[in-house]
Amino acid sequence: MKNLALTHPDLAFDVEAARRHFPILSRTVHGRPLVYLDNGASTQRPQSVIDAVNDYERRHHANIHRGVHTLSQEATALYESARDRLVRFVNARSRTEIIFVRGTTEAINLVTQSYARPALQPGDEVLITHLEHHANIVPWQMVCAQTGAKLVAAPMTAQGEIQLEAVIALMNPRTRILACAHVSNALGTVLPVRRLVAAAKARAITTLVDGAQAVAHMAVDVRDLDCDFYTFSSHKMYGPTGVGVLYGREQLLERMPPWQGGGDMILAVTFEKTTYNALPYKFEAGTPNISGAVGLGAAVDFLSSLDRKAAHAHEDALLHHATAVLGRIPGLRIIGTAPQKASLVSFVVAGVHPHDLGTILDEDGIAVRTGHHCAMPVMDFFKLPATARASFAFYNTIDEIDKLAAGIERARKIFA
Ligand code: PMP
Repeated sequence: MKNLALTHPDLAFDVEAARRHFPILSRTVHGRPLVYLDNGASTQRPQSVIDAVNDYERRHHANIHRGVHTLSQEATALYESARDRLVRFVNARSRTEIIFVRGTTEAINLVTQSYARPALQPGDEVLITHLEHHANIVPWQMVCAQTGAKLVAAPMTAQGEIQLEAVIALMNPRTRILACAHVSNALGTVLPVRRLVAAAKARAITTLVDGAQAVAHMAVDVRDLDCDFYTFSSHKMYGPTGVGVLYGREQLLERMPPWQGGGDMILAVTFEKTTYNALPYKFEAGTPNISGAVGLGAAVDFLSSLDRKAAHAHEDALLHHATAVLGRIPGLRIIGTAPQKASLVSFVVAGVHPHDLGTILDEDGIAVRTGHHCAMPVMDFFKLPATARASFAFYNTIDEIDKLAAGIERARKIFA
């Protein structure tokens, strides 16, 4: 007999129970129940994250690290315990490898300016892929312009796949850095990052993995991936905005100069000389986003409390259902059909501009993203100005996808 839990992942994952943790999911938009399918841009927050931030603001706020008074010590303990949770969350070796930043964008800029800028020579190459988010393109372009290095983009297949061999073919003795997404935000493609990192490592190429779209969907183990840097944003993993993480291999972080100067990143300052603080504080100049870090710590606790395998299976079921029902809509083309995909579907509908589609869906209370998704080279590749993108979280339901399909049909009739 077939295992029901496997054929119907909904049964293994209690989506209604999961939804109850997210107060926003019970609101209405234009008189309709909210159908939130823009999780790739930002996920919603569970009550536990809202409570953790609220409790911090109401009871514990003070500046961290420098105070002898009780509130400062409490705030410091909360901030640093969030770091400890993140160490475990990505399986870093120690807390020295977890740097709090504003988000993925800032993490990548930190690496380009503090690691790559001193390391790159004219003629060196930085290898990225065709499907990167602008956050993993533009900072590399900037550092290439500063150093005379060259930016090389590995090609993508018509399905939106990045093939290991195609990337390896571009690795050569001038290649210094490989920077690639773990999961594409525009297409959903899951890249073979473990094998990409291994190929790079065998050639002494430093690796950065942009995990912005991965951490909410899969367990990430930086030691298993063996990458040098891994970046992610709290707001895409059920935490607050304005905070994120740069994981870096300690030996590399030790050798890197600070990126920004200021308070907290120093041990001693005279006008002649400054001695920098130890890791991770060397990279955390100024007062950080303390309440954000506390909220991120709570988001880690929340994710860890889920049965992540079941949540992933549920998201996979959503992806398969969406691919099937959207695929049956006449004139609808799914953009990005790689065999390994995270739970998002990018698509265009003949005769309906994505922005019009997004507006019509909003009238039905359905939130999707429309535009270039900060991945213009992907749009150029498919010769499209924009797509509509429905990106799912474990709290989405099959019924919500059916509502999306009905909304798209309604839009088609309006523009027919
Ligand atoms: N990389 C990817 C793959 C992303 O999806 C995003 C956010 N859309 C970013 C980087 C940038 O993240 P943030 O805006 O949080 O810095």
